[in-house]
Amino acid sequence: MKFYKRFQTKKINIGNVTIGGGLPIRIQSMTNTNSRDLKSTVKQIKQLEEVGCELIRVSFPDMESALNVRKIKKHIKIPLIADVHFDYKIALEVIKQGVDKLRINPSNIGSQDKLVALVKEAKNAHIPIRIGINAGSLKKIHHSSNNFMRAKTLVCVAIEHIKVLEKYNFQDIVVSLKASNIDTTIQAYRLFASKRTYPLHLGITEAGSIFSGTIKSSIGVGIMLYDGIGDTIRVSLTADPIEEINVAYCILQYMGLRNLGVEVISCPTCSRCEVDLINIVLKLEKKISVIKNLRKLHKPIKVALMGCVVNGPGEAKDADFGIAASGKNIGVLFKNGNIICKISSDKWVNKIISMIEERMIHIQR
Ligand code: SF4
Repeated sequence: MKFYKRFQTKKINIGNVTIGGGLPIRIQSMTNTNSRDLKSTVKQIKQLEEVGCELIRVSFPDMESALNVRKIKKHIKIPLIADVHFDYKIALEVIKQGVDKLRINPSNIGSQDKLVALVKEAKNAHIPIRIGINAGSLKKIHHSSNNFMRAKTLVCVAIEHIKVLEKYNFQDIVVSLKASNIDTTIQAYRLFASKRTYPLHLGITEAGSIFSGTIKSSIGVGIMLYDGIGDTIRVSLTADPIEEINVAYCILQYMGLRNLGVEVISCPTCSRCEVDLINIVLKLEKKISVIKNLRKLHKPIKVALMGCVVNGPGEAKDADFGIAASGKNIGVLFKNGNIICKISSDKWVNKIISMIEERMIHIQR
């Protein structure tokens, strides 16, 4: 595993999960169900738990939804973060209901008295607050078209709010400084990390669909992680939140920051390829994405699917398992560097899945 020189941040407990202080970067997502609907919200959180979500955020837009916090918590294992805007009374209610962390944007909570009331209750309940500054909700940020000036505004606003919390001796703070522009976001996080040691929640906000959002997030979050910045990440996608978890794990895994799950290596194919590798890999990744408890593995599994014998055997041999096509609709199966047998391409996906499952049992023993 690669160890980037990470910024030393303060450790913060969110329920039974600790972030900061150089601990593993935690992956979070957000439900997109109606939080007034207990059943569908719990169902989605449980699905996200199964694919490895470690912290879950739910937005509570009104009192009716806020009254569901305790009930939701009864059914889930991971810490629950409440996202509350505009009405501090909703925030007070979610704290009363036992939420594990509060995410607010102090700019829209109202007068400072309201923020102070929240801080006092969060302190009594021993829960952290994320100060989530979002460029989209800052009017003054639009006075400048310069990315650095925008980044500076994000940081100044965050620090203004932090000072209010610190005045009341509250330091259980997590910070995010999000913009949909990658450069503004990176500059804001870099600037903040040079000034304060509160743990940072990373993300490129409103990043878009699975395709564009994955690219934007991988670039933005990847650069910040490479700088050693970040204690928890949320990949924001206009998609099923399960995809956010899958993308987040891939980012951390490919950067060597968390070694969890399965890495699939496959070639782009060319005229030498005599199997339908593109569809085989798509099918394989789909099946892998729904394997339960995959993220609980403490050792990653590397799988290679290659289109011919040019680079195929080399890559396949380096992987835990691999198949290199060796003719029309046929390939050679490798395990731990050794040739096992020839296998027809219609059997590749199921064979690899059964080998992953077998390896999981072995690793978990
Ligand atoms: S591994 Fe073979 S099929 Fe795949 S791109 Fe390389 S040469 Fe082409």
